[in-house]
Amino acid sequence: MDRAAPPDAIRDILAAAAAPGVLSLAGGLPAPDSFPLTELVTVLDEVMSSAAAAALQYGPVEGVPAMRAGLAARAGETGGHTDPDRVLVTSGSQQGLALTTNALVAPGDTVALEDPGYLGAVRVFRQAGADLLAVPGDEDGMDTEALAGRLRRGARCRLVYVVPHFHNPTAAVLTEERRRHLAELAGHYGFLIVEDDPYADLAFDGVRLPSIDAFSDRVIRLLSLSKTLCPGFRVAGLVAPPALIGPLTTAKQDADLQTNTFGQHVVSRLLSRPGFLPRHLLRLQSLYRTRAGHLAGLLGGLGWLTFRAPRGGLFFWAAITTAGVDAATLTAAAIEEGLAIVPGPPFCIDRDGSRHLRLSFATLSPSEMPEAVRRLELARARVSGP
Ligand code: PMP
Repeated sequence: MDRAAPPDAIRDILAAAAAPGVLSLAGGLPAPDSFPLTELVTVLDEVMSSAAAAALQYGPVEGVPAMRAGLAARAGETGGHTDPDRVLVTSGSQQGLALTTNALVAPGDTVALEDPGYLGAVRVFRQAGADLLAVPGDEDGMDTEALAGRLRRGARCRLVYVVPHFHNPTAAVLTEERRRHLAELAGHYGFLIVEDDPYADLAFDGVRLPSIDAFSDRVIRLLSLSKTLCPGFRVAGLVAPPALIGPLTTAKQDADLQTNTFGQHVVSRLLSRPGFLPRHLLRLQSLYRTRAGHLAGLLGGLGWLTFRAPRGGLFFWAAITTAGVDAATLTAAAIEEGLAIVPGPPFCIDRDGSRHLRLSFATLSPSEMPEAVRRLELARARVSGP
């Protein structure tokens, strides 16, 4: 199979979105107003005044002990494993995904994932030469009965990849029943589960379901802090079964020796500040709830998009109901109007995404949203007439 890097339609859209005057509903970027600036200034000062020599030095491949402990404690909040020895600090959870795939997936192995799926994962699996098994999903996440059916009929999976809270792009939440079912299937058929959960902290009601590794020992859990704190430090981690931590650590060493020591010092101190995280999460939830509600009202007024109002995360997965309007054509027309949006097809493996859009409610402020939606309507009129 051709393993040259595939072209990336979304990267091109995001480049267009960065042009002056373009409003963007495209990127999965957290709101800049969500960054904990005041606390970060305090912590940066503390690190530089009391730990600069260590923070500016090389550190252990596995990660700075305080960072591993901080990630283990976060994992434990949703019932997962809490032993810091099972944690490997990574440069973003995207690196956790790449290391896991490099260490565990050989060309021709099958990786199952929900269709549509997170593009960054689809790309990594394809690069590794994996065969993708597209599993349908609905508002309750991956249809684990459909997966079970494929396994019963002889499909052999190496990995099953899930985004259990507020999936990218569909915003679905995998129910607890399906989490347990997936864990059961992993035990029965001997595959590993990659649980990639960057949006868990963005539930508008603050409720997080138990992690799948509360039900199974066959889980590699990716812990991102990009949406919870900010993506710029690129500090994240993974929690893996003891037998896999060795090979994953070797893969990490070969990739980049270690994750940014300075970022680990800052982020671990921030996470351990008494009272900081619960207060910060409440602020995030309220910020995103307001933005999602605002955009839902405006999009609903258009009359040609249907969507389920998300309960968290960053995205609407909206279906176009006007006949003859194709998502890719609409995306091109929107750019002409000064608006960046993302069409469905790049996320899709087997299914047809040509009538879907992924729209982010996170990046624009409520005051910018009416103009963005006005441009979306102008783009629709360009494509299908008034
Ligand atoms: N997984 C999913 C499902 C994502 O949406 C993203 C970011 N868009 C990532 C992983 C990457 O996150 P990080 O910044 O931690 O690398």
